Amino acid sequence: MPNMNKNKLPAPEQAPDVRITNFEEVTGTYTPEMAKEEAQRCLNCKNRPCVEGCPVNVQIPEFIKLIAEGDDEGAFAKISETNALPAVCGRVCPQESQCEGKCVRGIKGEPVGIGRLERYAADTHRTKGGAAPAVPSSNGHHVAIVGSGPAGLACAGALAQLGYAVTIYEAFHTPGGVLMYGIPEFRLPKSIVGQEVENLTKMGVTINTNSIIGRLFTIEELIGEMGYEAVFIGSGAGLPRFMGIPGEGLVGVYSANEFLTRVNLMKAYKENYDTPIKKSHRVAIIGGGNVAMDAARSAKRLGAEEVYIVYRRSEHELPARAEEVHHAKEEGIIFKFLTSPVEIHGDENGVVRSIECVEMELGEPDASGRRRPKTKEGSNFEIPLDSVIMAIGTTPNPLITATTPGLEANSHGCIVADENGKTTHKAVYAGGDAVTGAATVILAMGAGRQAAQAIDEYIKSKVVVAQ
Ligand code: FAD
Ligand code: SF4
Repeated sequence: MPNMNKNKLPAPEQAPDVRITNFEEVTGTYTPEMAKEEAQRCLNCKNRPCVEGCPVNVQIPEFIKLIAEGDDEGAFAKISETNALPAVCGRVCPQESQCEGKCVRGIKGEPVGIGRLERYAADTHRTKGGAAPAVPSSNGHHVAIVGSGPAGLACAGALAQLGYAVTIYEAFHTPGGVLMYGIPEFRLPKSIVGQEVENLTKMGVTINTNSIIGRLFTIEELIGEMGYEAVFIGSGAGLPRFMGIPGEGLVGVYSANEFLTRVNLMKAYKENYDTPIKKSHRVAIIGGGNVAMDAARSAKRLGAEEVYIVYRRSEHELPARAEEVHHAKEEGIIFKFLTSPVEIHGDENGVVRSIECVEMELGEPDASGRRRPKTKEGSNFEIPLDSVIMAIGTTPNPLITATTPGLEANSHGCIVADENGKTTHKAVYAGGDAVTGAATVILAMGAGRQAAQAIDEYIKSKVVVAQ
């Protein structure tokens, strides 16, 4: 008999007043008893709408059934057939708009906690020291990957499983991409990302850090004198956008990328690290996505008394995951909806003193289908502050396209690639944020896997022609 409780079983959580004083993970993992109880809410539907909602087609009812039967390792193996980073996805995927958004239990109550169960299976496998990944036998072919975010890691994993010798070139000193430098420790512990990366190196993948492609080597050199038969570009979209309003050059104005990189990758929140970071008292984060929520919640944990999210549309249009918004509210983040900054004011030393904003109202829907915000004339007001963090989006860094003749980019700077990741350059594939612009972990991983398959077909076709 399925468990017909209408509500998803809550996961253990740190209390808001406690968690704003530390960087430890906010949400815990289900216990085995909790996981079984939640798994029994699944109806094992024949038409499997949840699977349709998953960009990498995780066999959801099957893995949940295995958890309900107490076979946690079997559940992990089932998820791993199509998802290379289940411990990451179980924590950061926007399940409410994907698998859980399609779950039939969501019609008359809350959907099955698919994300929590995925995380449970992955965490149980890890803490029990599950079997090391099998080392595939070599097929004698070499592929280079640029970037070690979810797109690059997923592509590397899929190619390594097919026996390719894979070398990743990563610009930073630590692999993992946004999982390492963007998403904070309290949402995604770095030890988990480290473990996923270690699994890849155990499968024979080589990772060269501190290696900026476009400077150290070009793409042409990788597929030329260095002898790689194909290259996958998963270099992300790490170039921050600014609003172009007066005052953005003042001391105390950060891009969210810089702020979060200092906090996460360079551990500015730890006493024994030298990374400088401004300990703000009053700070505004401009934007309403996951990046804005992460910056706001990090600023709070660094000790800011007042943290504002300034967003030009209404709460209904907030692009951040529902869980992040819920957690941010619980932690006392102040939301200023329908508000847009027009100028940042500084003091006589060039340090942020306040932000001047206008009120907005929503007009007709724009090309994205969201109602376009319009300024309410004469509604200007100021918020006194000492820091402003811009989280209004990012674009791909143009370094790679600028140094690779024949590699086309669109007007947003994104690499042009077909649905298999094939670019306009021979033997060069791309995927993830570098192609789509800022998107999600699971979409980047899906693109990495898809490109791995296309690279395999391309290399095999060359071998056939040569014979
Ligand atoms: P990235 O993760 O950006 O990785 C690209 C890598 O390439 C980086 O390590 C970079 O250093 C490296 N690189 C760049 N240029 C070069 C070069 N020239 N040579 C060598 N290496 C290079 N998504 C979700 O699904 N859920 C979330 O909760 C979520 N929260 C987020 C929070 C923040 C703060 C941010 C910034 C993003 C968040 N996202 C979230 C989005 C998600 O992280 C990205 O969509 C995803 O990481 C994209 O993966 P990627 O592999 O394409 O790029
Ligand atoms: Fe289970 Fe929901 Fe998927 Fe049905 S839609 S199989 S109830 S997770």
